[in-house]
Amino acid sequence: MSIWSKEETLPREEIRKIQLERLQETVSRVYEKVEPYRKKMDEAGIKPEDIKSLDDLKRLPFVTKQDMRDNYPFGLFAVPKTDLVRIHASSGTTGKPTVVGYTQGDLDTWTECVSRIACMGGATKDDVAQICFGYGMFTGALGLHYGLEKVGATIIPSSTGNSEKQIMYMKDFGATLLVATPSYALRLAEVAREMGLDPVKDLSIKTLLVGSELLTDAMREEMHKYWGADVKITSNYGMSELMGPGVSGECLEVCGMHINEDFFIPEIIDPVTEEVLPEGEQGELVITCIKKEGIPLIRYRTRDITRLFYDKCKCGRTFCRMENLSGRSDDMLKIRGVNVFPSQIEEVILGIEELGPHYEILLERDGYLDKMTIKVELATITDSFSTLEKISSTLKNRLRTILGLDAKVMLESPNTLQRFEGKAKRVKDLRNIK
Ligand code: ZN
Repeated sequence: MSIWSKEETLPREEIRKIQLERLQETVSRVYEKVEPYRKKMDEAGIKPEDIKSLDDLKRLPFVTKQDMRDNYPFGLFAVPKTDLVRIHASSGTTGKPTVVGYTQGDLDTWTECVSRIACMGGATKDDVAQICFGYGMFTGALGLHYGLEKVGATIIPSSTGNSEKQIMYMKDFGATLLVATPSYALRLAEVAREMGLDPVKDLSIKTLLVGSELLTDAMREEMHKYWGADVKITSNYGMSELMGPGVSGECLEVCGMHINEDFFIPEIIDPVTEEVLPEGEQGELVITCIKKEGIPLIRYRTRDITRLFYDKCKCGRTFCRMENLSGRSDDMLKIRGVNVFPSQIEEVILGIEELGPHYEILLERDGYLDKMTIKVELATITDSFSTLEKISSTLKNRLRTILGLDAKVMLESPNTLQRFEGKAKRVKDLRNIK
């Protein structure tokens, strides 16, 4: 597939030139129009005219999700409400949602970003694209919807739920491209099998654009087992605070997600000291929106842990790449003093052939001690006690080697654990619940 926009292949100096111009314009605009920003900048002793180079970005204060909550609902908006054409919100697990507003210009930018990442993942105008993200306040579905429509694909806006009907649409309408979370894409393949269909032979899916959940290498392999070795599976990244999906996406070289750098400036910081880290080092991703009108966030702390690479990609794009996420700093579990990402546990599970991709991580407290139980489905039914013992001890040993933690393992029969239509909720942390 061709590259959607010429901007994606600009030389580095030109990207930097666009970034500086847009950064200066955005900073002046928010300083003038958004009071909480002006206050933060005044406190930090920095004025818009102090931004003379991209290096000065690091002098600007950060914005966090808490700032959005403190200014709920519209306090960080830079345009009058009458200029907005749409509002989205992301539901927080606690308290008020974070609210984002879009001008027509913002929607055009968003569509452009998603068209680019759809093409990166192999979408073409000939695709029939089934969007199995929940439509509504969540930005995932509508973001992919408009971006793919602009590419020229035929959209099936089937949303989530009623998985058998999803498979019926997929088969009868000849869907070739599927948009879903990795866990729902797996679930749909399972449902197809339950309906007596072979997802590889009886359905026409050639491209999977997955997002809204981490895609580990092990999970990608697992998805190939269900959807076929030749399907293109790419992951894309975004969040409603910044825009929605389309901030970055993997190309078919699968070597990290290209960030749409003419709209976003990425930085990596040490989440504790807040210092900017050099290229290639792992830390928290911070993003500055440089072409947003409604709610242009500056140095937004994403809580996602990744790395940035600026060397040229084989696909021809010059935009830098962010490594597939190792985790959100919010998702990080602290178990007996050890930092663990659920994705690390997933990699261990999926590395054992006898285990399926469905699992739950249960955390409890026994006195002062954390207890971790991993419930995981077997790939196939077995009644052999010695086989079960062997699988269980392999999993325990690998968890101990890789994480340095002991876990209780419960092997479950296939198809017994809960399935998810949106973001999978695999961790049950009962440690603070009495
Ligand atoms: Zn590439």
